[in-house]
Amino acid sequence: MTTAKTPASFSELGLISLLLARLAELEYTQPTPIQAKAIPSVLTGRDLIAGANTGSGKTATFALPMLQQILSKGEKSKGGKGNYVTGLVLVPTRELAKQVADSIKSYAVHSNGAVKTVAVFGGVSANTQMLALRGGTDILVATPGRLLDLISSNAVKLDRVQTLVLDEADRMLSLGFTEELSALLALLPKKKQTLLFSATFPEQVQTLTQALLNDPVEIQLQSADASTLVQRVFTVNQGEKTAVLAHLIKQNAWRQALIFVNAKKQCEHLAEKLAKRGITAEVFHGDKGQGSRTRVLDGFKSGDIEVLIATDIAARGLDIEKLPVVINFDLPRSPADYMHRIGRSGRAGEVGLALSLIDHEDYHHFKIIEKKNKIRLEREEVEGFEVDASVSEALLNVEKPMAKPAGSGKKKNKKKQLTAMEKWMKGLQSK
Ligand code: AMP
Repeated sequence: MTTAKTPASFSELGLISLLLARLAELEYTQPTPIQAKAIPSVLTGRDLIAGANTGSGKTATFALPMLQQILSKGEKSKGGKGNYVTGLVLVPTRELAKQVADSIKSYAVHSNGAVKTVAVFGGVSANTQMLALRGGTDILVATPGRLLDLISSNAVKLDRVQTLVLDEADRMLSLGFTEELSALLALLPKKKQTLLFSATFPEQVQTLTQALLNDPVEIQLQSADASTLVQRVFTVNQGEKTAVLAHLIKQNAWRQALIFVNAKKQCEHLAEKLAKRGITAEVFHGDKGQGSRTRVLDGFKSGDIEVLIATDIAARGLDIEKLPVVINFDLPRSPADYMHRIGRSGRAGEVGLALSLIDHEDYHHFKIIEKKNKIRLEREEVEGFEVDASVSEALLNVEKPMAKPAGSGKKKNKKKQLTAMEKWMKGLQSK
């Protein structure tokens, strides 16, 4: 934990004017808590381990110091035959690779092309990526598998890497990248700066941390940012989830809604059922080709697609601006994935909403999700879709502390929402 006073403006962080000008253009008026706490240390070359929620502004936390180091040294990894890389960012998914590289390019827009940033990931032809890597790269954003392929084809070399970023380290390990990661780490020089970001710290991440980091600055953000997100859970009868979902979508007329299901086939299935109820939805899952994934994601980001049904490949890292609502149609299997899914809404200070629909088969699992994530939500019902009286109170798990007089649910939730916003604003002011 850092104890030093947290800077309140970007200009206090020690960033060069070229970057400050860009942040002003992007209307980043104030650093987020992680940016304020981490950037000054990262600029001095310290290693970092940060526990931060998605949407906390962590991309800029590593990207700005990396850019500054490259720009101020004026050192070239480009040129020559080496295909060297100066800064390497490892990420778990293709979409995240593209998104992070786009953010870095955007932050570097005023550098007159002095920084070359390349993204490499699987699912598309390697040839274009090989060409892009020719002559060296300042910042390479990569998924582990494709990077290893490119290394074995001599398209890129890691022995001059000065900064390594492991973004979403827990996810990379849980996706089975452990072997790829250790192969990549063995190719990196010993002396380098390492920045590790992880939402959770399971044993594997701790092992990685111990092996990799040298006297790191440790930042564990309390989930203050998560308070911008209002979470609600609705109990529904078995077999009525689709009807309830369609009702909620129509009633609330959300600008956009991201709906999570647990299986690829279920995406299509639900889209068809919604279509019968007059709601057009697109699907996003791992069996879709890269072209389709990009098209759907771009369409959703731009607002052309209003309802998106996705598996957990959309649960991590995707930054969809001002996403008003995330709905768990199926509950995620792991409690950690619940946090990742709901983190798609309420990002960077926007107020968001996360709804979960639970039928009686889900009650027990939702209780575990709550326990592991240290949350406790009041069970609500959707008017017109009340749960059958035959479902017992015990199963419904209406516990005393949160119990409310019948019919007062809406008021109480409004109050909760306000409190969450107030808390968040206070948090910002006190930074
Ligand atoms: P990240 O956690 O890096 O995915 O960032 C989440 C979102 O917050 C992105 O849309 C960023 O552009 C945005 N963002 C990052 N830092 C700031 C900031 N200081 N002020 C406003 N928006 C920010």
